[in-house]
Amino acid sequence: MHKTREAVADSDLKQITEYGRAVHGEMDAILTCARLGISINGKYLFVTTFPCHNCTRHIIASGIRKVYYIEPYPKSKAPYLHSDAIRFDDNYHENDNRIPFVQFVGVGPRRYLDLFSLQLSNGREIERKDVQNRPSIPPKPGRLPRSQMIPLSYLEREERLQGDFKEILRKLQGIQTEDERPEQVSDNDTKPQESQ
Ligand SMILES: [Zn+2]
Repeated sequence: MHKTREAVADSDLKQITEYGRAVHGEMDAILTCARLGISINGKYLFVTTFPCHNCTRHIIASGIRKVYYIEPYPKSKAPYLHSDAIRFDDNYHENDNRIPFVQFVGVGPRRYLDLFSLQLSNGREIERKDVQNRPSIPPKPGRLPRSQMIPLSYLEREERLQGDFKEILRKLQGIQTEDERPEQVSDNDTKPQESQ
């Protein structure tokens, strides 16, 4: 049991939202408004990623009227658990008070760097104009492709965590096998008495 606790303590299991102390951005926004005495009843919430099931119930309870998100989050259980209180279109429906969760249309903040800055988030500089100060479009041959934003997307981070989780399971299984193993009996106890 002690070894199991140690293995769990070394893992990221406690980061699961239900068990840890950390709050997600949406919850933090709601709580911060509460702390500062700012009413959010009937207001809009803008988030980078589609909210998780846990944040969604906070959003529903807070009185927020609409949520705009940029990045979908197919893993979210919110549509499955809270479809009675949220919907995914922005059309007016009579007698439908469910909160619209709609995808933001426009240039997402994460794309601003790639599209408009002179430097990518990884530090690489981008030539947007030629020597005569004209826009360098189309891109010159040999130019490097635009790189993905850093940090990694949640899909890649989750893939890494999954690897860690498998490693923990492997360790735990090893510990369990060790715990279940009967105590070693010394050779002297088992060796049949030699008859003389
Ligand atoms: Zn969340």
